[in-house]
Parts: sequence; C-alpha cells; structure tokens
Amino acid sequence: MTNQQLWQAIIGDLEITLSKANFNTWFKNTGIIEKSEDYVVVGVPSNFTKDWISSKYQANLLKALKNIAPEVKTIKYYVGHFKNDSSSQPALISTEPKKTGQNVKQINAQQSTGNLNTQYTFETFVVGHNSELAYAASTAVAKNPGAQYNPLFIYGGVGLGKTHLMHAVGHKLLASNPALKILYVTSEKFTNDYVSAIQQKKIDEFKRQYRNVDMLLIDDIQFIAGKEQTQEEFFHTFNELRDKGKQIILTADRLPKDIPSIEQRLVSRFEWGMVADVGAPNLETRIAILQTKLNKKGVEVSKEVVEFVAENIINNIRELEGALNKLLVYQQIENRPLTVEQAKTILASIVNAKKKAVTLNKIAESVANFYSITLEDLLKQSRRKEYVKPRQTAMYIARKELGSSFPSIGEFFGGRDHTTVMHGVEKVEKAVNANDDIKQEVELILEKIYA
Ligand code: ADP
Ligand code: MG
Repeated sequence: MTNQQLWQAIIGDLEITLSKANFNTWFKNTGIIEKSEDYVVVGVPSNFTKDWISSKYQANLLKALKNIAPEVKTIKYYVGHFKNDSSSQPALISTEPKKTGQNVKQINAQQSTGNLNTQYTFETFVVGHNSELAYAASTAVAKNPGAQYNPLFIYGGVGLGKTHLMHAVGHKLLASNPALKILYVTSEKFTNDYVSAIQQKKIDEFKRQYRNVDMLLIDDIQFIAGKEQTQEEFFHTFNELRDKGKQIILTADRLPKDIPSIEQRLVSRFEWGMVADVGAPNLETRIAILQTKLNKKGVEVSKEVVEFVAENIINNIRELEGALNKLLVYQQIENRPLTVEQAKTILASIVNAKKKAVTLNKIAESVANFYSITLEDLLKQSRRKEYVKPRQTAMYIARKELGSSFPSIGEFFGGRDHTTVMHGVEKVEKAVNANDDIKQEVELILEKIYA
C-alpha cells in the first residue's frame, strides 16, 4: 500500500461523514509524506489546518489508522504547501506562503470575462448545506446550458452568494468557449437601458443587445416589481432567448410568487426551469469559507480568531469577508498574529451592534416561530413535551446570548424557579455538545434571531 493509498483509506470515513465543503477545506492538499514503524508524518498546508485536524479529527484518524496499520501509534504533522492530485504522491512544493501579488497577476492574465467579476468562480465558492442545491443546479447549467434548467432562478437573502454563483456559471462556459456572448446585468440596469432606449428611440438597438446573447444573467430581478412596461419587454426578451435555447439565470431575494406587483405570466415562467435557494451558512461552513479566503490570500490567522469571527458574524457571507479583511489589515499593520482579544476590539462595532438588538422577547418569539408554537404556549406553564423542549432551548439561548441571570430568565418564562431554568439550560447545553443536529437547530434559531 502506498502512503497515498493509506491516507485515502484513513480519511475515507471522514469523507463520508463530513460535508463536502468541510472535508475539502481540511483534507485537500494533505497526505502522508513519511511512514515509519510506529508513526506517520502527515503533510498539511498550514498551521491552521494542523491545529484544526489535530484538535477535531485526531481521534477519528487514529482509530482508522489502527484498523489498517496497527503498528502505527502516532500521527505527526508537517506544515508545508502540498499539491495532492489523486494520481500521484503528494509532493512538497514550497513552504513559502503564496504572495498576494501572484494572485493579482493570475487575475489580470484571464481573458474574455465579459462584465463578470473574475473572483466569482466555482473554485472560490464554498459549498455548504445552505447552498448545495443552488450550487448543483449552477454546475448543471454550466455543463449543459439552455437545457433542462432554463431558467435557473436562485433566491435568498443578501450576501449569500447568488451573484457569485451566476457569475461562476458564466466563467465556466467562457473557459471552454471564449466566443460566447454572456451578458450580466442587474434588473435596474435592464430597466434603465430600456427606458433610455425608448427616450432615444433606439429600441432596435436595445433588442439587439439583449436578444443576441448566448446567456443572459439578470441579478435581483425583484426590482422590476411594479414596472409594467419593463416587465412587458422582459417577457419578450425571455421568450425569444428561451425559444432559441439560450440560457437565462435570474436571482432574487425571494421566491418568484412572493415578488409583489409582478405579472403572473412572468412568475410562471420563472418557475419553469429550476428554482433553488441559498440560505445562511452554518458555523462549519462559515469557518470553511474564512479558511478558503485565507488560503487564497496566503495569509494565516489563528484558529481561535477564525472561530471567533465565524461564531459572531452569522448570517451574511459578505459581512464575514468584510470582518476578515478588516482583521487582516490590522494584522498586517501589527505585523504579528492577532489575538482573540484584539479581534474582539476590532470587530466590536459589528458584533455588538448585532447583540444589542436582541432581547428576551426577540429570543422567545424566534424560538416559538421556529418550532411553530405560539408565544403563549412557550411562556405558559404547560409541561407538554412539545413545549418543554422549545422552552428549554429558549432559556439556553437567553443565557448564552444575553448572559441573563437564571432567576430573571425564570421570571420571563412564566415565573419559573431558577433551578428549573438551570436544569433546562444544562440539558440543552449537553444536547448541543453531543448532537450535531441539535447544534445546527440552535444555530438556525440564532440566525433567525440575528437576521
Ligand atoms: P448575494 O448576491 O447573494 O447578495 P454575493 O454573491 O454578492 O451575494 O456574495 C457576497 C460575497 O460573499 C461575495 O464576495 C462572494 O464572493 C462571497 N460569497 C458568498 N457565498 C460564498 C461561498 N459559498 N463561498 C465563498 N464566498 C462566498
Ligand atoms: Mg447579489
């Protein structure tokens, strides 16, 4: 068995149990570089990866190792930059971190990207549970444009990767055929172009521009709500392109049927192909996104700081990136790794602004809403199981997010004794630590609370 095969066998279990994003983030570009009688040396790309793997996955790796190579007792790590394509042994390329200048050069060297953002590619997109479907649909469209998923309609909240995905499809198609005409516009630009075409009597030109493309990407289509004439024009543009087998991708902040003041015939067309949502990423995905951005920049930040950012910036990837960039600027100025304390201070304005808005009431409402029970049921005395779990969860969140005292939480939740609260909080705490589903449930509620 080669070292490579041994490593594949060891991480095989994790590949199945972890999400794809998570697995790729931590195990891409890793490999066994040395095996002796009683230890193996695993090459990893960064200190961060080393810390993460050794603190989270050490037990799993050792267990798997024991099954395959019982003589090996220890895993050691070697930090270097590894390239790991499956056909060959992992090779040490360089221990130097990538310089950002190289990235800039690569970007400049790219050709024919139309008006697409060069950063928004499939390669830089981290897939989590929140974006699995939208990602799968986008890659399917990139493989086979104008086919079954036409139009592709991606919807979801602000800063969750909708624009990124639609550009990624464009890049992928241009990579194999640079001659393709791909037009990306926001629906506001479409509207403005149309209005000025009418004013300047250049409707033919407008039609040529929008109807002679191989793929049309319209971002934030919800803004054509209420603009009847633009909707009419868009209706014809849509029909003509689709009849010609040209791909259309649309994004919006909500489902087609929830866009107000939009013609029914458009709503039904938007639903013809594929409607896919992107949601807020969970903690695991947020960490993976931060780590991917760091890898790309060739910069390291301590594991604790990354976790602090991921735990506190929870419902928007753009904010997550913004927070990270802010920290990196400080780290560069300081010229040494930031501590969590420093990160807290630097991000205080963002993090505290969010915390402040939360109240016991808000927590109770969000929890009740999440479990589809009424606020009254959550707060009143009933000991029925379907109310007890949500109530204890709400108590746990109140304690964790607001640091409220047990008696004050008890008083709020229907005048309960503080020992009852303590018991409930403890119970949920244990469940969160022991069970990933429950942990994720709490994260989802937190996302709603802070949304
Ligand atoms: P939206 O269009 O949904 O408002 P964007 O596509 O503009 O959001 O994404 C906001 C920022 O977050 C962009 O810089 C984008 O590259 C980044 N981003 C969003 N989702 C992801 C993801 N899954 N992986 C990596 N970066 C992401
Ligand atoms: Mg967008």
